[in-house]
Amino acid sequence: MSFDSMTRLTQIVRQAVSAADFSQQAQAIVDGISRELDVDVCSLYKLDNDQNLLLVSSHGLANAHPVIIPKGEGLVGQVVETGQVINIVHPDQHPAYFYVPDSDEAQFQSFCGVPLIQHALVVGVLVVQSRQVTLLDAEEEALLLTLASHLAMVLNNLPSPQLQIKNLYKGVSGAVGIAIGHALCRQSESLTAVAPQQSQNVSEEKISWEALRADTLVDLQRERQLIEQGMGEGMAALMDAYQQFLLDPGFASHLASCLDQGSALPWAIKQTVDYFAEQFLAIDDPYLQARHEDIIHLGDKLYQIWHRSLSGQVQQLESDDEDADRSYILCGNLLSVSDIISLPTAQLAGIVCGDGAALSHIAVFANALGIPAVMGVGELPLGQHDRIIVDGNRGEVLVNPSNTLIAEYRALITEQRQFDRQLESLCHAPAITQDGQSVILLANSGLQADIQPGLDHGADGIGLYRTELPFMALPSLPTEEEQLEIYRQVIEAYGDKPVCFRLLDIGGDKPLTYLPVNREENPALGLRGIRFLLANELILKTQLRAILRAAQGRENIQVLLPMLTTTCELTALSELLDVEVKRLVQEGQPATRPALGVMVEVPGVVSMLPFWKKRIDFISIGSNDLSQYLLAVDRNNPLVAQTYDPLHPAVLLEIQRIVTIAEDCRLPVSICGEIASNPIAMFLLIGMGIRRFSMSASKIPVMKRLISLIDTREAEKLLRKVNSLDTAESIRALGDTALQVFPEYDHFLPGY
Ligand code: PEP
Ligand code: MG
Repeated sequence: MSFDSMTRLTQIVRQAVSAADFSQQAQAIVDGISRELDVDVCSLYKLDNDQNLLLVSSHGLANAHPVIIPKGEGLVGQVVETGQVINIVHPDQHPAYFYVPDSDEAQFQSFCGVPLIQHALVVGVLVVQSRQVTLLDAEEEALLLTLASHLAMVLNNLPSPQLQIKNLYKGVSGAVGIAIGHALCRQSESLTAVAPQQSQNVSEEKISWEALRADTLVDLQRERQLIEQGMGEGMAALMDAYQQFLLDPGFASHLASCLDQGSALPWAIKQTVDYFAEQFLAIDDPYLQARHEDIIHLGDKLYQIWHRSLSGQVQQLESDDEDADRSYILCGNLLSVSDIISLPTAQLAGIVCGDGAALSHIAVFANALGIPAVMGVGELPLGQHDRIIVDGNRGEVLVNPSNTLIAEYRALITEQRQFDRQLESLCHAPAITQDGQSVILLANSGLQADIQPGLDHGADGIGLYRTELPFMALPSLPTEEEQLEIYRQVIEAYGDKPVCFRLLDIGGDKPLTYLPVNREENPALGLRGIRFLLANELILKTQLRAILRAAQGRENIQVLLPMLTTTCELTALSELLDVEVKRLVQEGQPATRPALGVMVEVPGVVSMLPFWKKRIDFISIGSNDLSQYLLAVDRNNPLVAQTYDPLHPAVLLEIQRIVTIAEDCRLPVSICGEIASNPIAMFLLIGMGIRRFSMSASKIPVMKRLISLIDTREAEKLLRKVNSLDTAESIRALGDTALQVFPEYDHFLPGY
C-alpha cells in the first residue's frame, strides 16, 4: 500500500475509533471511505440469519427505510456467494444487478463490493458506488480490503438491524406464507356489557328498533351468502334461525313491551334476549338447549349493528368495487372459526391473532385453508383498514410498512407463487421417494372450503375430517339431516378415495359456544373428545347415524375416535356403533360398520394399543395433542410457544415407540398432526417407516416434492443420528443441513 493510501486509512480509522459505540464506528467508517475515496456512496450490509442482507450504515444512500436485499440477490448477493470482490463499471448492465426500490441506485455508474469475512465466513459486504464511470484502482481496492477485516468485527457487534424495523411485531407462525392486505379488526361488543338504561322518547326508540331490525336482516342475509360460499347451502340454512327469531312475533312483542315501559333500545334488547335464552336453557334436550346460544348471538349482533350505526362506523366489508378487490387481514385478539367463515375466502389474505399459539385451532384452520397466519402477537396498535404484512414464515407482522418493504415482500410472494406453479405438475403424480417407495398423502379437512383444494392438490383421500369444524362454525347444533348433507358432500367429492371422519372433538380449546358446559379448571384435561361424546349420548348417536347414512354403499369410510384413553370408552363407543348400525338396518337403511380407528394423542394410549389391537382397525398419530400432553405445554399459550416443539427428542422418540408397537400389533399407522408438514420431521418420519400422512391440503404439493427427493436409507441414517441428540435445536440444525442439499431448500425452510 502506498504512503498516500496509508495516510487515508489512518484518517478513517482515527475518526472511527473515537466513536462512542459500534454503530457510530460503522457510520464513521463509511463516511470516511466516501470522503477519502471521493465516492458518492459507501454502504455496509450485514447478513441476517436467513442470509438476507440488511443495510446497517450508509453514506449517500437513502436509509430512511429498512433496506433488505433478499438472499443471493444482486451484485451484493454475488459478493456473499463467491466471497470475492466485484469491482465494475455500469453495474446496471450486469446480469446479477438488483435495484433496491426507492434508493435511487440507478444513477450509479460504478460499483465495488468487498466481502467482510470473519472465521472464514462472509458476515457482510462493504459497497462503494459512484456516479462517475470510474473503476477503483488496485490501491483503493486494497484499502477497502484492509478496512473490511475491521468492519467484520464491528458488524458482529452491531445490534441486529432487523430489530430496528419500525412497527414490526413478533409472534409465532400459525400458517406459513406471506400476505399483504388491509386490517379487518374484529371487535367484540357484547350485549352482556349493557346496563339498565331509560329512554327519553319511546316512539323514537321504536323507530330506531324498526331500522335496526331491517339493517340486521340485511346483514344476516349477507352473512348467509358468505357461509353458503364457504360451507354450502345446508350450513347456510342454519343462519335462518337468527332471521326467524328476528321475525318472530313473540320476540318482537316482548321487545316492544320493554320499550313501552321506558327502556332504552339496547337495554330492551338485552332483557328480551335474556328472557328467551333462559327459556331455551330450561329445556332438557341438548339441541333445543343449544338454541339459547342462537339468541345470544343474535343479541350481540343487534347490539353491534346498533353500536356501529351510532359511531357511524362502516360495515366490515363494503361491497363497492374498490373493496371487492381488496385483500383483508383478519385481526383480533381471540378469533373464532366463524369469524373466518364469515369472510369470502378470496378476499381473506391473512390472519393475525393477538392470542393463541402455533397449534391453536384457529392456526390449524388457517393452514387448512392455506392462509398465512401469525399467532400470539399481543395487542397491536391497529386501526381499521391499516396496511399490514403478515409473514407467516417468520411469525411476524408489519403494520403500515413502507412501500419499499411492501415491494420486497411482494417479490417474495411472487417467488413463492412461481414455486407453487412448478409444483402444480406434481399434484396428480403419486408421492414416491427417491428410491421408489410409495407414500400416501391425505388431506386434513373439515370445511366445504377445503374440499376442493384437497382434490386440486392431489390428496389421496381425507385422512382427518375434523367434524367439529362445521359444528364450531355454526350458530347451533346441526341436526342429523344437516350433518348427513355435510358428510355426503365430502364423500361424494372424494369418490372412491378414503375419507376418515373423526367424531366430534370438542371441549378444550374447541368449545361449542352454544352448548352450556361446566367451567373447567383445566379444559385440555377435561371433558374433551370422546369423553364429551359419551357424556352427551344424544349428540354422539346423532353423529354416528349421520356418518353411517352418508357412508351407505361406500367402502373406504373410516371413523376415528378423538382423545380416547380407556378400554371402557372404546367398548362403549364400539357397542353404540353396533347398535346404530343395527337400528338403521331395521329401518331399512343398509348400513355397515365402518373401519374404526383411534387417535393416538393421549400418551397413555400408546401402552393400550396391544390390548386393543383386535378391536380397532388402524391408528392415527395426533402429534399436536401428543406433543402438548407429552411435554406438558399448552398448545395455545403464547407464553410457552417456544417450548412447544414437535422436534423435541421426546416427541420423536415417542412416535418411534408408537410405530414399533403398531407394527407388532399389525395396526396400520398414519400421522395427521401438523408435524407431517414439517420438512425436517417428514424426513425423519420417512426414516421411521411411516408411509401414510394427512396434512393441510395446501402443504401436499411441497411435501410431495420433498418426498421425491428423499432416499429412505438416507432418512434412516439421519434418524439414527437424530436419536443421539437431546435438544430440538440440535435436531433442527442437523435436519436443516440434510435439507440444504436439495435445490428447493429455500422453499422447505419456512415449514420448520
Ligand atoms: C392432533 O392432535 O394432532 C390432531 C390432529 O388433532 P387436533 O389438532 O384437531 O386436536
Ligand atoms: Mg388432537
